[in-house]
Amino acid sequence: MNELTHYRASYDAARIHFRELSTSQGWELYSLVVDDAEELFIDIALWRESSNRLIIHSSGVHGVEAFPGSAVQCAFLSSWQPSLSDLPSIALIHCINPFGMRYLRRWNAQNIDLNRNFLSSFTTLPINPFYDRLSPFLNPQSSSQLSYFTLRVLKLLVKYRFAALQQAIAQGQYNDPKGLFFGGKQPAIETSLLRSFFQQYLSRYRFIKGIDFHTGLGKFGQSSFYLEPHFGQEAYRQAESIFDQTIISALSQTNQSYQMQGSLVAGLKAYYPERDFWMITQEIGTVGPSKILQALRQENFKFHYQPEYPMKADLLLREAFSPDDDAWKRAAVQAGVQALTQLTHAQ
Ligand SMILES: [Zn+2]
Repeated sequence: MNELTHYRASYDAARIHFRELSTSQGWELYSLVVDDAEELFIDIALWRESSNRLIIHSSGVHGVEAFPGSAVQCAFLSSWQPSLSDLPSIALIHCINPFGMRYLRRWNAQNIDLNRNFLSSFTTLPINPFYDRLSPFLNPQSSSQLSYFTLRVLKLLVKYRFAALQQAIAQGQYNDPKGLFFGGKQPAIETSLLRSFFQQYLSRYRFIKGIDFHTGLGKFGQSSFYLEPHFGQEAYRQAESIFDQTIISALSQTNQSYQMQGSLVAGLKAYYPERDFWMITQEIGTVGPSKILQALRQENFKFHYQPEYPMKADLLLREAFSPDDDAWKRAAVQAGVQALTQLTHAQ
């Protein structure tokens, strides 16, 4: 497998590659229209085999992370061999946040973190007072506030623990539409489109397992798996045996992880209440938490307040979430394809 051949330089090129491979390999292809005029779509390739077992693989819920996510799905499609018997049905969801991929953001066109937008209700929004306290640091509105980043972080680390800070920041917030990790005040178009697609095409399956592919958490080039604690012990046991690796609980604060609400996997679980369902988050580590935060913070400032602000190359979100490094790119695709293959062939 030549992993590098499946990376594309833009959303449009990645989309074309995914669609061509799906069609040539005999998969059904669906396009959900996020924005017709802008030509932004969520593409879904569907392999129909088993009538009760379904595997879901999703990429790009965090836009810019779709560069490796799309490459994983394309590499998997290119080596697809339908002759194997007893296959599950498979849904490959390509780039849930196409706006974010095209414009190299982690959020959608409304600045929403889609992985906080799958709440079952928006009538009472989750609150996050610790985030609100950190907001002046997280969401600067003038370029002078961008300097002395390391010093500012160190001060916060002295005052609070790393895990507490990470929890407060990454948990998400539903208050500030221009802030980082904004979960939205209503369902985003991408969220609604996926919900309807599941209702129309994927509601009949009884046994459903999935992988939501991400980058940015963990050591550079290293793959790790996270399972939200509400899936329960049996899901952990199954996942550890399938992936042959320790599964990190998203509850444990000693690990590089955090709790949150409104994630895609939690949203799908709520959609499948009576089914045997779990979905794991696969993460490929990149540049480390401090640099990720610095990059997100600068990019958000530039996007909302000063479009001409010159960001340093190493702080561009593309570099922070999809490093231009051949060894990293290969490792990401290898780990992604391996996990998807293991899940496909698990009974
Ligand atoms: Zn992500």
